[in-house]
Amino acid sequence: MGRIIAVANQKGGVGKTTTAINLSAALAEKGKKVLLIDLDPQGNATSGVGVEKNQVENTVYDLILGETDIHDCIEYTEFENLHLIASNVDLAAAEIELIGIAEKEFIIKKAVEKIRDRYDFILIDCPPSLNLLTINAMTTADTVLVPIQCEYYALEGLSQLIHTINLVRERLNPYLDIEGIVFTMYDARTNLSLQVVENVRANVKQRVYSTIIPRNVRLAEAPSHGYPITIYDSKSAGAESYRALADEVINREDS
Ligand code: ADP
Ligand code: MG
Repeated sequence: MGRIIAVANQKGGVGKTTTAINLSAALAEKGKKVLLIDLDPQGNATSGVGVEKNQVENTVYDLILGETDIHDCIEYTEFENLHLIASNVDLAAAEIELIGIAEKEFIIKKAVEKIRDRYDFILIDCPPSLNLLTINAMTTADTVLVPIQCEYYALEGLSQLIHTINLVRERLNPYLDIEGIVFTMYDARTNLSLQVVENVRANVKQRVYSTIIPRNVRLAEAPSHGYPITIYDSKSAGAESYRALADEVINREDS
């Protein structure tokens, strides 16, 4: 049974999509079978693994409409062990389509259950809001991985996110757990990054990964080429950091 990890934080630009793509790729490189589900209408995880988001026949939106079987939504990327369920701007209408639908918090979960045993890991890239799509991701997931950008307002919004996770656990998914917090865009040249890390470590009860993702221009460049960092620049600091994070995620599974 694959472990399902929702990558979530309602703040935009904190590194969710970068983490979803590159953690998926690093896990795949280590031989794990990985499905990446793009649940953001921006479709950046889709294009980031080299899939042309406007040419995909069946996206996650078709899944939500209930007209397409999940097997027909799985795209084989050009990278070994890495499959994708794509998204594009069509998904922006999902909230409206779901009005009045029975069990609308469980649409994705019901579909994913059919294919779960084919993968070691299923990662879900969430949109930057606590909307019904994110709730669907949390209902489907075993754990939530929270990327936090090393900036002054890092902790802003975290308590609201944790509150949401707790509500989902109480009402929709009793097994939901916090996978952990991962720091992103760490800049070793500034004291601020270090202060943020120390401050968060001192103030949160949740697990914080010892791997810290550095600010690395190669990570920002890779998506425009449609490659995960492990392929785009295999020896970069960004690639090494996501491999280290993958090891931590895998080892948690063993423990
Ligand atoms: P989110 O999905 O949370 O909105 P993204 O992963 O799209 O965030 O990241 C926001 C922007 O920051 C993107 O342009 C991305 O390329 C860039 N970025 C993310 N992580 C890093 C990093 N570690 N180093 C440099 N740029 C990064
Ligand atoms: Mg994103």
